[in-house]
Amino acid sequence: MARFQQKVVVITGAGSGIGEAAAQRFAREGASVVLVGRTAEKLEKTLTTLTQGDHLVAPCDVADAGQVQALARKVQDKYGRVDVLVNNAGIIVQGRIHEIALEDWKKLMGVDLNGVFHCVHYFMPALLKTKGNVVNISSVSGLGGDWGMSVYNAAKGAVTNFTRSLAMDYGADGVRVNAVCPGLTMTDLTEGMKDDPQLLNKFYERIPLNRAGEPEDIANAIAFIASDDARYITGVNLPVDGGIMASNGQPKQA
Ligand code: NAP
Repeated sequence: MARFQQKVVVITGAGSGIGEAAAQRFAREGASVVLVGRTAEKLEKTLTTLTQGDHLVAPCDVADAGQVQALARKVQDKYGRVDVLVNNAGIIVQGRIHEIALEDWKKLMGVDLNGVFHCVHYFMPALLKTKGNVVNISSVSGLGGDWGMSVYNAAKGAVTNFTRSLAMDYGADGVRVNAVCPGLTMTDLTEGMKDDPQLLNKFYERIPLNRAGEPEDIANAIAFIASDDARYITGVNLPVDGGIMASNGQPKQA
């Protein structure tokens, strides 16, 4: 498949995990990929795994509006177009709310929510010209509650509803806006769980497909929803979660 020939795809958080797998997938399908993240070395490493194409390593902190504005200019100068924006950069904060420092709330909101706003705000003019689309990476945590994750859930829940309203505002212009909502996926973000089989089993009990997701599972869905195969889909928050949402979080029966 080469669904993204001649297309320019901007992916935030492309230095690892889901963003890296998405970059590989888009590149395999012919896209020029703009690799965005804070750590240049990680982006360079992702670059070495991409099939040939005119890709760009673009270090940028999405929490900083000025840096995102400069990024949008840089992409416009190099390619003159943007077809897909994947808002994937994210961090996690865990704990009950009275244990969370105000600074940690602000830090998470800066990346997981403001970062999405900054990118949509500065890239939308280019997307309007190409009738492109946005894929926000929310989470099953943006569709329901979780224990000890209220800060993360607040940000992801906002992204979920931001996605719906953006789809309404830009549909008539031909710009689609969707979100992919991963369940538990094995990446740096969940690295700590690998050494805790008990905790992992607790999660697996809630996953009908009986395993955690791989970054490629999520990348497949991102590429689908960004492609013309999904041309009549907008405003959707698509769970890619091995069935967690279908099971309503109930553990398996013995
Ligand atoms: P990951 O491997 O930690 O990837 C997150 C990436 O975001 C990193 O490469 C990080 O690179 C980048 N990033 C963090 N802060 C940034 C900032 N301020 N500006 C630009 N880039 C930044 O984790 P992942 O699991 O692939 O997560 C990707 C997305 O999926 C996140 O939005 C996450 O919430 C969501 N998600 C993950 C899971 C899961 O189970 N893994 C489940 C549901 C949703 P730098 O630190 O170098 O910037």
